[in-house]
Amino acid sequence: MPEKIYIFDTTLRDGEQSPGASLNMDEKLQIARQLELLNVDVIEAGFPFASPGDLEAVKTIAREIRGPQIAGLARAFAKDIDAAWEAVKPAAHPRIHTFISTSDIHLKYQMKKSREEVLEMAVAAVKHAARYTANVEFSAMDASRSDLAYVAQVFTAVIEAGATTVNFPDTVGYAIPHEFGAKIKYLVEHVPNIHKAVISVHCHNDLGLAVANTLSAIINGARQAEVTVNGIGERAGNTSMEEVVMALTTRKDLLDYYTDIVTQYIYPASRLTSKLTGMVVQPNKAIVGANAFAHESGIHQDGVLKEASTFEIMTPTSIGIKKSTLPLGKLSGRAALREKLKQMGYALAEEELNQVFARFKDLADRKKTVFDEDLASLVETEVIYKSVPEYFRLLDLVVLTGTLARPTATVKMEVGGVIHRHSAFGDGPIDATYKAITHLAGSKCNLLKFSVSSITGGTDALGEISVRLEEEGVTVTGQGVDPDIVTASARAYINGLNRLHFLKEGGPKGRKPEEI
Ligand SMILES: [Zn+2]
Repeated sequence: MPEKIYIFDTTLRDGEQSPGASLNMDEKLQIARQLELLNVDVIEAGFPFASPGDLEAVKTIAREIRGPQIAGLARAFAKDIDAAWEAVKPAAHPRIHTFISTSDIHLKYQMKKSREEVLEMAVAAVKHAARYTANVEFSAMDASRSDLAYVAQVFTAVIEAGATTVNFPDTVGYAIPHEFGAKIKYLVEHVPNIHKAVISVHCHNDLGLAVANTLSAIINGARQAEVTVNGIGERAGNTSMEEVVMALTTRKDLLDYYTDIVTQYIYPASRLTSKLTGMVVQPNKAIVGANAFAHESGIHQDGVLKEASTFEIMTPTSIGIKKSTLPLGKLSGRAALREKLKQMGYALAEEELNQVFARFKDLADRKKTVFDEDLASLVETEVIYKSVPEYFRLLDLVVLTGTLARPTATVKMEVGGVIHRHSAFGDGPIDATYKAITHLAGSKCNLLKFSVSSITGGTDALGEISVRLEEEGVTVTGQGVDPDIVTASARAYINGLNRLHFLKEGGPKGRKPEEI
């Protein structure tokens, strides 16, 4: 009988700690809904003690999402645990996740505490959490670099105190698969009450081994994997959910385990997470990268056309990549668009449909056929990504450029309800446009990153622009899409400015939680 592997998703906690990936409340909820569709077992929704905004976000998710367990992170302090409980209490299945470091390096330099003191704190924290709920997870931060006998001693004590999941993190991404697996085996053999708890692992990808280490741990007795969508997270990121799930699914012959993940939602979850966090997925990323199912070589293409399994170990449809069906054109009406979006899995409110329809009409006038990918991009930027109020709004853009003319842009823009216009020169049309917008918005932000990608082939393909902006230590991303690359750039920049404005006006902020 295959054994179940519990999927603990920490996209909203560890993933959100990726540099520049901060999410607002509405965005967190959208990702949580997608995780519920994926049928993850546990959603780690945040670190409630970090800020009132974080606490509120976890509480909202706990109220709204009824399927998966909802976990809140807490350091091994009573006040942290109280905040975590207040946040997860409304959930159908709440979990408190408390942690403390167990490595001598952290004890000596970071905490300045003895092993005995840390053991006492861990037990006290778990006992405190267990008074609220029977569902308590304990993590030994930096476990992979800790003395294993000491971790075994701590695990024995916290299980005795009421922990039902014990997590063994490779916090710094230092472990090698066979070594990591052997450590899990040691715990199975040396923690006398281990049968009363689930062993969990939380791996970081600093050496590119997070997924390999997780699989090695599973083979040796771990039954919970802590993961994120697209593998986002601190530094090089966490174990990627899609890679672990598809490895277990594809190699059932060798790995006698299963997860309850509905794999058809993997690709939509990847797109949504990438869009909302602004963390672009590299084309050669396993499972969800743009090239993951692209067969370029002639021999491979020929083989796949004759019989997919010749070079394809899994199918694109198994992770929810849908083939473009009948494209829409400029004669397609609102009903056709609504029906098409419904087939693609988007249920839009009337107002949202109107927004997308207006952009669709404009697009269909300029581009002969509108593919599913184009529509998905429009919905993502017009509805999903526009979750902040539009303080700045692009009304018109005229650009003059060429090999002889000095590039000039004239921008008409609404700023807080008032219409302004400004012209600027630049090194190129996008530079000129950005200078005009910067002037109109009175912004002091720095442009950290500017990336362009095209959605489908051909010169009339939609251009997708992603920008990253920074002002006074706050970093945001902006997204824009349009067949005209300069207009798409303007939209992305203005979207980013709206997000900065929203954060300055009191959107969710928080200090960074300690890392696990
Ligand atoms: Zn982590």
